[in-house]
Amino acid sequence: MPNYRELLQQVKGEIDEVDAAQARALLDGADPPVLVDVREQDEWDEGHIPSAVHVPRGFLESRIEQAAPDRSRQVVVYCAGGNRSAFAAKTLKELGYENVVSLAGGYTDWKRNGLPTQLPRSLDAAKRQRYSRHLLIPEVGEEGQLRLLDSRVLLIGAGGLGSPASLYLAAAGVGRLGIVDDDRVDATNLQRQIAHSTATLGDWKADSARATIEALNPDVEVVTYKERLTSENVDRILADGWDVIVDGADNFPTRYLVNDASVFHDIPVVHGSIYRFEGQVTVFKPHEGPCYRCLFPTPPPPELAPSCAEGGVLGVLPGIIGSLQANETLKLALGIGDSLAGRLLLFDALAAEFSEVTLRRDPKCPVCGEHPTITEYIDYVEFCSGRPAHA
Ligand SMILES: [Zn+2]
Repeated sequence: MPNYRELLQQVKGEIDEVDAAQARALLDGADPPVLVDVREQDEWDEGHIPSAVHVPRGFLESRIEQAAPDRSRQVVVYCAGGNRSAFAAKTLKELGYENVVSLAGGYTDWKRNGLPTQLPRSLDAAKRQRYSRHLLIPEVGEEGQLRLLDSRVLLIGAGGLGSPASLYLAAAGVGRLGIVDDDRVDATNLQRQIAHSTATLGDWKADSARATIEALNPDVEVVTYKERLTSENVDRILADGWDVIVDGADNFPTRYLVNDASVFHDIPVVHGSIYRFEGQVTVFKPHEGPCYRCLFPTPPPPELAPSCAEGGVLGVLPGIIGSLQANETLKLALGIGDSLAGRLLLFDALAAEFSEVTLRRDPKCPVCGEHPTITEYIDYVEFCSGRPAHA
């Protein structure tokens, strides 16, 4: 029977090794390998090589397929000093991995060479407690919560839809919320716009909503834009970096503008609209699903498109639709579930009925179609006024 030294010697003779500089070159290459850290949890917690996946040696056989499903792709394994990873490399070869190398000298040598390392991120005790009901869901968990805290969501409007959407996104721990709204809180808003209160009458809605959000969750950074979204400012606002746009606009020029901008900037839009007892919600995912213009190439004539201000709305309806928008937004941020892209969800509050309409991309769509004719912002007010937008 060989002793440990002899066995190690024998295994090292059967596998391939790279040094830290070679490993770095592979990782920086055009076709980087899967990098597997086979150390124990406490070692991993003290730092690891960026882009590594953690599969402790004891779980290698059972978990490697999840980390590296493609057996033909190169795998680099490492441990602290290069011995455990040598055994791991042999095991991976036996499991059918075609191209496995072990990092000689391991993490210790990598660090000694001054190569980059990374500390794993985790939630502190206060965040673990605040988001404990998320941590309990396997589909969210700590990783998902960290993703939410890294997410940036821009809300167009802090009114009926923006209120519930922003509050639920803030409560869920979406780390950055932008609010575009140029209105002030007035008494007619308070029947439904729950981010505001009697005490904030007369304040900018963006400020009023920010105060409510900050009181709810100090983890959330709120960025306010007290201006109406226009062709002139939209690129500047989107340049601040947003993962998802929640469209709670109550007018057609803004909807078309948000749509065109989202296609130009490739940002998904969670769209909602409400009128009296009826609400609609869908997701416009640029180039993956239809956009707003695929559905409505032209706006309705103004006389057939009354707003809530003109037609009224049941106070709770925006709460329902705005919450559905928050739901879609959280799913997009987490990368889970089936989004409403390609589906328009309709809600009838009087009948208490949901129904769904399938939406398709229009290959002739002027913005997201095969040969787009609208490639820059237009005059949206004119476009929606019933007069031809182009002379
Ligand atoms: Zn389209």
